[in-house]
Amino acid sequence: MPELARTPVRMCVGCKATTTSPILVRHIEQQSGPGCSIYACPACAPDYMSPNEAFSALFDHTLGCEQCSLPSPAEPCPTGHTLVRVHTAALRRIA
Ligand SMILES: [Zn+2]
Ligand SMILES: [Zn+2]
Repeated sequence: MPELARTPVRMCVGCKATTTSPILVRHIEQQSGPGCSIYACPACAPDYMSPNEAFSALFDHTLGCEQCSLPSPAEPCPTGHTLVRVHTAALRRIA
């Protein structure tokens, strides 16, 4: 299935399950070679992101996403939707 091949599949740093909606939670810089990126599934992402990090991920996504950057989108795209939920959950964790 061609759709599957295009779908980014990553292992979640929290529950170790593979997720088709990976959220980039951290980028680790390394002295030698390229850095490595840590991904989490939408359910675990709030555990690995501060509300600020979740907000800037949402902000960055919105800037680059045609659907989410509309003045008043009827529906954010699935990624935008997930990031909104992660941000909300991260806020709730510190409340
Ligand atoms: Zn997970
Ligand atoms: Zn979007």
